[in-house]
Amino acid sequence: MNPVLDSNIRHWREVIGNASAKWGGAEICGVTKTVDVDTINEAYESGIRVIGENRVQELQSKIERLNPNFEIHVIGGLQTNKVKSIFGMATTVQSLDREALADELSRRAVAADTVMHALIQVNIGHEDQKSGVDEELLVPFVEYCSKKPNLAIDGLMAIMPFVDDPETIRPLFKRMRGYFEMLRDKDIPNVTMKTLSMGMSGDCDVAAEEGATMVRLGRALFGARPIKQTKEV
Ligand SMILES: *Cc1c(COP(=O)(O)O)cnc(C)c1O
Repeated sequence: MNPVLDSNIRHWREVIGNASAKWGGAEICGVTKTVDVDTINEAYESGIRVIGENRVQELQSKIERLNPNFEIHVIGGLQTNKVKSIFGMATTVQSLDREALADELSRRAVAADTVMHALIQVNIGHEDQKSGVDEELLVPFVEYCSKKPNLAIDGLMAIMPFVDDPETIRPLFKRMRGYFEMLRDKDIPNVTMKTLSMGMSGDCDVAAEEGATMVRLGRALFGARPIKQTKEV
């Protein structure tokens, strides 16, 4: 048991629990990039069951020593040539944002005789950022993915613009919840819409109030990450 981590997890579970009560609660996905394996495993002892990793290589370096009971999600941009290596490690890709990636996830899932789960990443309020499907293309993209064998679409994911005051992006969280419900009501085969992954350390309370079913917390649980080193230091 890691007392600091445990108290962070308790604190944020309570905050998120209260904020999401009217929606039936929201799960915490522990974001474990740069976090060492021992600490990640301590998070399991404190009740974290889902973790998100950004980079396939980093996940590969950790997987053998991670508690095998974790449910592991890929939350960062995923290159199609890395898709093969996530099978056997991750059960869900939260960053599905293009047809080529859906094709490859499906193809590899069929070959492995398994099902890969995915969330569709929506490019909400980010005119300047490329990852995520544009809002106007969301429905046709979900329909495209729904036809891919062995690919299960569990919901939507968004990375919000970074802002000082999360209140300013409350309308974006609302809009995401709107898309989530609209798609859920369409009852598309292979599309369950049970997970709406939005909100990070700086804005998870607002996200939970607006109907997130999963928030992704890195710094709030594990503390500040080391500053990224550039090539030449
Ligand atoms: C790093 C990251 C997070 C967590 O960010 P924090 O601010 O540390 O909570 C959540 N989602 C994605 C996609 C990330 O890359």
